[in-house]
Amino acid sequence: MEITLLGTGSPIPDPNRAGPSTMVRAGDAIVLADCGRAVVMRLMADGVIPPMLSAVLITHLHSDHLTDLNDVITTRWVMSPVPNPITVYGPHGTAEVVAGMMAMLAPDIRYRLAHHEDLNEPPAITVVEVQQGDEFMIGDVVVKVAATDHRPVEPTVAFRLEHDGLSTVLGGDGVPCDTLEALCAGADAYVQTVLREDIVRTVPLQRFTDILDYHSSVEQAAQVATRAGVKTLVLTHYVPAIQPGQEDEWRALAAAHFAGEIVLGPDLTSVTIGKI
Ligand SMILES: [Zn+2]
Ligand SMILES: [Zn+2]
Repeated sequence: MEITLLGTGSPIPDPNRAGPSTMVRAGDAIVLADCGRAVVMRLMADGVIPPMLSAVLITHLHSDHLTDLNDVITTRWVMSPVPNPITVYGPHGTAEVVAGMMAMLAPDIRYRLAHHEDLNEPPAITVVEVQQGDEFMIGDVVVKVAATDHRPVEPTVAFRLEHDGLSTVLGGDGVPCDTLEALCAGADAYVQTVLREDIVRTVPLQRFTDILDYHSSVEQAAQVATRAGVKTLVLTHYVPAIQPGQEDEWRALAAAHFAGEIVLGPDLTSVTIGKI
């Protein structure tokens, strides 16, 4: 099972970090979790084009996590020689968001259908809205869903991918909660979006410090990993962005609460759990 941090940024624009997005390769599946800014560019950097994706998971409907879902949809559609349906799994509200995207894409879809003789159907997107306790398959990968706490953003979910005795949890945004911790129990890897509470607190901007109450700090993510018995903690969605040379400082904050492997870094940082 291979985890690739396609985009490690946040809503704050950054020339070097794409928006939040993580790819997991497991068994016969390539799963894309969240679709932040420039996700298709980062997929290509790893040799993946949207037609190759097995499914898309959306943890929640904050714009930084889905701003480029429309690019995934359109690029998959125009690059697939035959109809290539895909399912988007996300919390309640995902169907409304995808319907809005399809409405936004309607003129483009009309133009391309009219122009290309071999393109006869619009993009085939199925949306499945999921909630705490749901379980489904993507290829031969088992996916389990838990509710997370990112209030007032509701509902929000985390996903656990299991294949061949290996497991990865994609925690999304939020603060620690019992359902997330239960989903993480014994996981080989736990990917969590984090902020540096010590830095964010010093910024004299209410709109910035507001985010402290609904995002995990580095320390909180590490504490969840320890309590849940996780083997590898993968940090992403850095607020603020990790500056060159700061990696060890971030790692030390997590290591004070977690004894396992800690993974963080630039976009396209990848970690392999067991065998792929
Ligand atoms: Zn969010
Ligand atoms: Zn976010």
